[in-house]
Amino acid sequence: MTRTVAVVGGGWAGLAAAIAAQDAGWHVTLLEASPYWGGRARTVPVLDEAGTTWPLDNGQHILIGAYTATLGLMRRLGVPLAQTLQRLPLTLRYPDGMGLVPSAWGPRLPPRLAPLALGAALLRARPWPWRARLAALRALAGWLRPVDARSPDTPVANLCAGLPDPVVRDLIEPLCVAALNTPIDRASAWVFRRVLRDALLGPAPAPWAPSDLLLPRADLGQLLPDPAIATLRAGGAVLRTGARVVALQRAAGVGWWLHLACGDTVHTQAVVLACPVAATARLLAASGLDAEPTVAAWCATAAALHHQPIATVYLRPPPDWHWPAAEPMLALHTHAVTAPAQFVFWRRPLANSAPVLALVASAPAPALATDRSALLRAVQEQLQRQLGLGGCTPLATVVEKRATFACTPGLRRPGMHVAPGLLAAGDAIDGPYPATLEGAVRSGLAAAAALSARA
Ligand SMILES: Cc1cc2nc3c(=O)[nH]c(=O)nc-3n(C[C@H](O)[C@H](O)[C@H](O)COP(=O)(O)OP(=O)(O)OC[C@H]3O[C@@H](n4cnc5c(N)ncnc54)[C@H](O)[C@@H]3O)c2cc1C
Repeated sequence: MTRTVAVVGGGWAGLAAAIAAQDAGWHVTLLEASPYWGGRARTVPVLDEAGTTWPLDNGQHILIGAYTATLGLMRRLGVPLAQTLQRLPLTLRYPDGMGLVPSAWGPRLPPRLAPLALGAALLRARPWPWRARLAALRALAGWLRPVDARSPDTPVANLCAGLPDPVVRDLIEPLCVAALNTPIDRASAWVFRRVLRDALLGPAPAPWAPSDLLLPRADLGQLLPDPAIATLRAGGAVLRTGARVVALQRAAGVGWWLHLACGDTVHTQAVVLACPVAATARLLAASGLDAEPTVAAWCATAAALHHQPIATVYLRPPPDWHWPAAEPMLALHTHAVTAPAQFVFWRRPLANSAPVLALVASAPAPALATDRSALLRAVQEQLQRQLGLGGCTPLATVVEKRATFACTPGLRRPGMHVAPGLLAAGDAIDGPYPATLEGAVRSGLAAAAALSARA
């Protein structure tokens, strides 16, 4: 008899769980509350005043070569990786040409020598004095050693004690915010070091080095959600958007009844809750399941997580302006209020159309995260000062208020097992990664493996 599973939530974790479950022989029902697949990594159609629809991402996403689960899943779905992702050796170049710029020979080294390439880039980093470059190199070599789990976790800022200011400001702060979306005074040193180790010493699918930045050339929908949905449809899965699950009920015989906001009910043998953990906790409470002590403990751990926003401002530069770098991404000098964006990306969302700039402010100050016009003004002034660019036309500002959980020292995260027969998946579920696509995909695959192990 066919085994049935309902996956609640069509973000990257839910899609990964659904594909892996279908591959293992389960009949899948995938239920997504919003009108879109992809969750926090999705494409949003934006209409401009001339009536053109732009397929913009809700935020710029960077993958790295060490994202083995995500890249493996994309390959499984037939996504042409070399065409879809642009490879950049680990780079942190500022508009003035300063920063971490790889040497010409670095990218030609075998992937296992990625740390050597980074070391060479650090020794070339301008405008740091030699003392700063050597200090950065020494610190990095120390951080790559395995974390001693007996020592307490601390903020990344503590790791940086004694490092020269430019190294912290121009290298560690942007790297930490890009990887953990948490400022260094609050970010977990353990997780930061684990991500660094994976990115420099971990495996990566050929031809990439684990530290390579892989920048999407296509919109996020084409990276994973669209091909995943096509594969699930071809395998006979039931796929519903606009389908919010509002309650779960244990079925008298085997499995669960899922109640949807529209009044429909779905019966299934197994359930994977791939919603953000706060939504999962609400659903469990609305279903009265939090009366069970283990579920109550799960909900309490979920409720203790804090979240950080990410804002993305899309602007169209004047037609006669030229992007000043070879690579499509530049780091920016930041200030909490007057220069909130850490990165600017140069994208062409529509073939043969004008390019678009995407300015990313990770964990912006609350006053900017809640006031889009103030954010837009600050970002435009930052562009004027750092790239000499004025006269841009605003296209859209997307603020994801709960983009990622704050990855703080000693953080406890809810686990995959919620209750007998109820599994959770998602980027916040306990695992080695911070809130990332890789964390979400790994968690989805783990939930599908646990389903099959139990059945
Ligand atoms: C702006 C931004 C930039 C980012 N940049 C990067 C980056 O550069 N690199 C990187 O690796 N990661 C990045 N991330 C993080 C990454 O996007 C997330 O970690 C990942 O998408 C989380 O996926 P998920 O499936 O766990 O959760 P989600 O994507 O949140 O999916 C959960 C889904 O569940 C649905 N849902 C909720 N409640 C219900 C319900 N009751 N019934 C049915 N469905 C429900 C939601 O609508 C949602 O679609 C970024 C995130 C943002 C927001």
